[in-house]
Amino acid sequence: MKVQDIFICPQCDGHRIEEIITNAAVTSEVVDTTECGDIKYNTPDIDEGIVDRYQCVNCGYAIPGVSNGVELYAHLLSSGNKRLNTSPKKGAKP
Ligand SMILES: [Zn+2]
Repeated sequence: MKVQDIFICPQCDGHRIEEIITNAAVTSEVVDTTECGDIKYNTPDIDEGIVDRYQCVNCGYAIPGVSNGVELYAHLLSSGNKRLNTSPKKGAKP
């Protein structure tokens, strides 16, 4: 499911989630270098790491009890269902 369609941050109403990883080894292929020491890289790869939390991109609100993709999916599913069940339906005018 699309995160931006489901997730609403309880603190700031943001719709984006980011994954915070600790102990990660990030590698980037070096593709170009100059005499002043500037280096150009390919897109970095994250090789290792432990997911610490998922949080709101906007304000940093950490989603409680979620530390992997399965839990994140379940959380979004239940919060999406809650919203659908509690918010009044907006029907088209007759
Ligand atoms: Zn937020």
